[in-house]
Amino acid sequence: MSDKRNLFNKVWDLHTVRTLPGGQTQLFIGLHLIHEVTSPQAFQILRERGLKVAFPQRTIATVDHIVPTDNQLRPFRDELAEEMMAAIEKNCADFGVTLLNLSDNRQGIVHVVGPEQGLTQPGMTIVCGDSHTSTHGAFGAIGIGTSNVAEVLATQTMFLNRPKVRRVVVNGQLGPGVYAKDVILYIIQKLGVQGGVGYAYEFAGSTFDAMSMEERMTVCNMSIEGGARCGYINPDQKTVDYLRGRPLAPQGTDFDRAAAWWLSMASAADAQFDDVVEFSAADIEPTVTWGITPAQSVAVSTPLPRLTQVPAEEQKLIREALEFMGLQEGQPLQGTRIDVAFIGSCTNSRISDLREAARVVQGHKVAAHVKAIVVPGSQQVRQQAMQEGLDRIFEAAGFEWRAAGCSMCLAMNPDKLQGRQLCASSSNRNFKGRQGSPTGRTLLMSPAMVAAAAVQGMVTDIRHFHIHS
Ligand code: SF4
Repeated sequence: MSDKRNLFNKVWDLHTVRTLPGGQTQLFIGLHLIHEVTSPQAFQILRERGLKVAFPQRTIATVDHIVPTDNQLRPFRDELAEEMMAAIEKNCADFGVTLLNLSDNRQGIVHVVGPEQGLTQPGMTIVCGDSHTSTHGAFGAIGIGTSNVAEVLATQTMFLNRPKVRRVVVNGQLGPGVYAKDVILYIIQKLGVQGGVGYAYEFAGSTFDAMSMEERMTVCNMSIEGGARCGYINPDQKTVDYLRGRPLAPQGTDFDRAAAWWLSMASAADAQFDDVVEFSAADIEPTVTWGITPAQSVAVSTPLPRLTQVPAEEQKLIREALEFMGLQEGQPLQGTRIDVAFIGSCTNSRISDLREAARVVQGHKVAAHVKAIVVPGSQQVRQQAMQEGLDRIFEAAGFEWRAAGCSMCLAMNPDKLQGRQLCASSSNRNFKGRQGSPTGRTLLMSPAMVAAAAVQGMVTDIRHFHIHS
């Protein structure tokens, strides 16, 4: 009989250690990624209980959230940040875990460096104490964020309820100026921030097939913003080609054997799903959030919703969002003045994002009232971008060119909004206070749209922006 399982269920079954009487699964974790913010307490627990890291060779650490992206001289000016750095350095040394520290040119945002180094591979279970671990699903892996890093360090397993699997199908070619970021913002807008609760999302269809691995990472990165436990795309030849030659991927004949197995993990052609939803790429436009959840977005050419157009139960949140954002119902978002432009984060800080943003800003100047920063996702991305001269394009336009890190995505470092500043951001969350100021405001959009907004000083439809190249 043919195997009708989808990738998610194949990977889950393969990694199941046991099923508890209550129905929870103890899942073996293939790769545990750690960073400086969510690991210190976990190592403390290990010390207190006299435990070791069960599989140090399956654990890898980097520093990203708190590292300054301008002046990285140690000790950091922020004492708490310095403490976290010292803690991860000691913990990794004491427990035999490899640390991609600032002095290591592989350092960067945890969800950028995993794939970049070839650690992220199809068919794996990957865990990190960070919700955007869903990024790794772009490779056909199950990437799950955890708040229990200690459990994973000590046992290399996790207890989880098995989610259902929803196939999210998008077919067709994306129009000009429409990017992977717009696709995932559109999906979240349609299904809601709670729509994915209890589900893993399988993204399928010709739109995803046509995407590069980096675009697929952007999509999977934000699955969690739609409430899904994780999101993934079936591995294909693009996945294999991306991984070939990566330093920590299998090499030589091992690679060929691994590649054959990776491809075999894809969902069967007649695989079954708990739910299927379908969208058309033709309906997706450049999309911008206007509110305080990633689902509160509109096509850039469309006015904001009117309260009378939405169900009564949603009106309260919409009113709250409009008030916080200082926007009016029914107004166009296009033309809204911005104060800050941020290109970075694990959603959109890879080389293809920077190339596209540089293509937009080339020959232009950032508007005088806008502070604009570009923060590469990793040292490797930064180096590559500099080899291509992208740093010079950004700097000539008036952007600040920074070192790798999470920067203004979460602002647990010196990169923060001030007061009520409004930021066009390529990151993934627009919650109140997310970018460091309790009253700061975030508009999520693609890196190309952030670049155009930086130049015009306001929200701009990339389709009508003059690109020189
Ligand atoms: S870039 Fe933002 S979302 Fe991604 S790991 Fe860093 S803080 Fe988390």
